[in-house]
This record gives sequence, C-alpha cells and structure tokens, in this order.
Amino acid sequence: MIDLNKLVKQNILALQPYSSARDEFSGEEGVFLDANENPFGELNRYPDPYQRKLKQKLAQLKNVSVGNTFIGNGSDEVIDLAFRIFCDPAHDKALTFTPTYGMYEVAAGINNVELLKIPLDTEFQIDLAGVKQMLQNNNIKLMFICSPNNPTANLINKADIEYLLSNFNGIIFIDEAYIDFADNENSSIGLINRYNNLIVSQTLSKAWGLAGARIGTAYASDEIIKLYNKVKPPYNVSKMNQQAAINALDNIEVFKKNLSVILSEKERLKRELSKTKLVRKIYRSDANFLLVEVSDADFVYNELVKQKIIVRNRNKQVKNCIRISVGTPQENDELLTALNNLQ
Ligand SMILES: *Cc1c(COP(=O)(O)O)cnc(C)c1O
Repeated sequence: MIDLNKLVKQNILALQPYSSARDEFSGEEGVFLDANENPFGELNRYPDPYQRKLKQKLAQLKNVSVGNTFIGNGSDEVIDLAFRIFCDPAHDKALTFTPTYGMYEVAAGINNVELLKIPLDTEFQIDLAGVKQMLQNNNIKLMFICSPNNPTANLINKADIEYLLSNFNGIIFIDEAYIDFADNENSSIGLINRYNNLIVSQTLSKAWGLAGARIGTAYASDEIIKLYNKVKPPYNVSKMNQQAAINALDNIEVFKKNLSVILSEKERLKRELSKTKLVRKIYRSDANFLLVEVSDADFVYNELVKQKIIVRNRNKQVKNCIRISVGTPQENDELLTALNNLQ
C-alpha cells in the first residue's frame, strides 16, 4: 500500500471542505428551513450531495462498496479532480500513452500540469521499457491509461496494467469509458481493494446511452474517494441527472438489448466495411467504434460530411484513419451506402 498522504497536494490535505446544509442533516423528511431553498416548485430542493440512491445501485451492479464509489458530472469532472487533488501546478507531471483521449491533455493544461506522452507500440499496447525510462527522472504523480483506448479501440493488456500498479508509486487512473462493450473480466475494478493508488473511471455516457445526463463514475480505495468528496463541488450531480441514471439502472433489460444490437451491428459494419474498396484496414475493437484506415482520410471525411454523415477524422493521430461510432442499423446502412458510392 502506498502512503497517499505523500501524493496528495498539501493544500488539499489541509483543506476544510464546505459543509452543506444537507451534510449536517441528511434525512428525507422534515420541515426544511436550513438551505435557503424556495419552498415552492418541483426542483426547489438541492440534490443529494453524495447521490446515495444512485451509488447503491451502481455499487451493487459493480460488486463494490458504496464507500469505494464516486459520481462526477461526467468523466470530465472525475479526470479534472484527479489533477486538482494530486498535482501541484507547474511542478508535478502526469503521463499518458498516445494516441489517446484528448481530455487528459486539456485537463492537464487547465491545471497547469505538464502531460508527458509515450507512444503506444505498433499493437497499440504500452511500451513498458519506455515507461521505466520516463519514470527515472520525472516528478510523475498521475498516469492515465485508457482501456479500451480511444481512438484505437483496443483493450490494454491486463498484465501490463498490473505490472504498472505494482511498480509505479503514483496514482494510476484507468479510464474504462468503453468497458461495457468488452468482456467483463477485462475491467480493473476488481483491483481497487489491492491497490490504494488505483482509480477506475467509468461512465453512463456510452453503453448506458446517457451522454446527455453527465454521469461519470470513479471506483477507488476509500482513501481516494474521501479526497474526491472533499474537493468536488457540493451538489455536482443534478437531481434530474441522478434520477435519469436511476431509471436507466432500473431498466437493465433495455441496456442489455441495446448493447447486443450495438455489438452485432459492429460485427456487421466490420464485415461490410472490409468489402469496400476505400478501406485498407480495420483495427480490432473492444469498444462501440471502429478505427478504420482508408486510402485518404481527409477525402473520405469531407465526402461523407457533404452527405451529412459525420465520422471522426483521426488522420492526425493515426495516419489515414477515421473513427466510426456504431449507429442504428439504418444509420450504419446509410454510412455503407455513402462509402460504396464514393469508390
Ligand atoms: C466518451 C469518453 C468518456 C466519457 O466522458 P463523459 O464525460 O463521462 O461523457 C470518457 N473517456 C473516454 C476515453 C471517452 O472516449
């Protein structure tokens, strides 16, 4: 176990967190004259600052304790808080593996923390020798691993993740936004009891279809969750968003049905795309999108936009690649027709 007090910023250790009216009294019934709320209306009351109902459902689903669960206003907040808790601006550094999700760079920039980057290898896996070298003379507090990785779509080897967990004395943040599209045993969530420096972040934005509700989650040791609760804005998840998430979790059959359609559509897309002349290569995908190498990504992207079909041009990250999210069967058909008309 790592002494987390050595990793946390001194000002955060010393911080006296805001104590909200709902911290002091959290019962559901009574005459509430404590928060200067308006007594009239439907959304007149502040939401539960610790999202207890929602956390109970998530914790049960993920087989973890409520005390190991945090909910943020999207993963974006979960990522930002990691910088704010652990990285002293202009001093500490963070590390990630590229190409990857752009928010780590943006959150690092906002927090004035340098983000070091090691390119993934030709299989889009972590170059462990490169990491060892990078760790030698750098003040690295925080490491971001995205698995399945965006935009490359593949899972990162679990053995490499465990190696890093055993050998890195900072915080390891594993972004599992797409984990529900992969097999369950690939999640690192089961490791949070063994490594107190591990944060596993997930989201309801992708497989749960709630990108509009902004529900990001973090699973970690209770020490880390306490730090997150200390630093987060008191009412960071709105009542409507908490309720939307609870409704989705109560309808797991809908989730499963949509997930299976997306997964079978992904296979169909892969088959059909590989028959089109413009497609050079389709990378292995453990997510709900495909990274596809075409003859000329800028050309294909622009031609598709003309037909009002929007994919993500990743030419700058991976040469001549576009990233295609799996849509409804009809949307996928439209994409395939448009591509076939291009060649
Ligand atoms: C889409 C995505 C997220 C989701 O972010 P939210 O803020 O929860 O919507 C997180 N990480 C990665 C890598 C993503 O691609």
